[in-house]
Amino acid sequence: MTPVIDADYHPWPRDHFSVSQLSCYLQCPLKYKFKYLVGFEPFFTPGALVFGSAFHSTIEFFFQQWKKGEKVPLETLIGVFRADWQSMKTTKPVLKIPNATEEDLLTKAETMLGVFVENAKPEIVVSTEERFTVDLKNPESGEPLPIPLEGVIDRIEEGETIVEFKTAARSYSQADVDRNLQCTAYAFAWRELHGKMPKKLILECITKAKTPKFGRIETTRTIDDLAWFWTLVMDVLDAIAAGAFPANPSHFCPSCEFAHYCEGYRYGRL
Ligand code: SF4
Repeated sequence: MTPVIDADYHPWPRDHFSVSQLSCYLQCPLKYKFKYLVGFEPFFTPGALVFGSAFHSTIEFFFQQWKKGEKVPLETLIGVFRADWQSMKTTKPVLKIPNATEEDLLTKAETMLGVFVENAKPEIVVSTEERFTVDLKNPESGEPLPIPLEGVIDRIEEGETIVEFKTAARSYSQADVDRNLQCTAYAFAWRELHGKMPKKLILECITKAKTPKFGRIETTRTIDDLAWFWTLVMDVLDAIAAGAFPANPSHFCPSCEFAHYCEGYRYGRL
């Protein structure tokens, strides 16, 4: 059952596996190979990724300052977002989001931050950006996989509650959240760390619509869900160990930062 990983052939994921790697492989195995195995430099950073990262670090700042006793005003948060946006822009070219100018996006971020401040409950936040490294053991049999799972939980709230925060084009449905891989992975990690399941998992989202909507959808996970996750990880590791990296062309291709290398794959040059 345990996948055979040839460490010499696969320098990655020799040291750890993560939900980002798992999601990338499931989206397009060839992109996974370019990004994590070969280590190609991406040609640009997708605009949506820059937007999401800047938003995440801004609200992280909001919660950190609250912990220190300071309620940061909206104007300051807008300044933090703009500064993050500019600094990410200088490290690599940003791929434009279709039909949106940079100023449109910055204005949208300001509206979204206003919605966030109206709805945030910093008084129940226990910690933010919690890094973890846990063994990938089958939750039923204890069978281990040969590398650990690493990740970062956006927020932990009172009552053993894990919160994953997203900016998204549309609201999430209950079914989306019940199947969300990140929520399952964080429940898996929590059980490894605390010996029990988290009481609640929440996916919190602000939409990028003209009138942004704030939502918090609750879900839970069972041992069966964790066993399912473990089996999925094992299957993906098996596929990686077998050198299975087929291209999976999809609607993600126009924003794929490795599309340039993909040309070479199509014509047999990689
Ligand atoms: S361009 Fe599409 S098929 Fe090619 S690596 Fe990127 S996501 Fe995969």
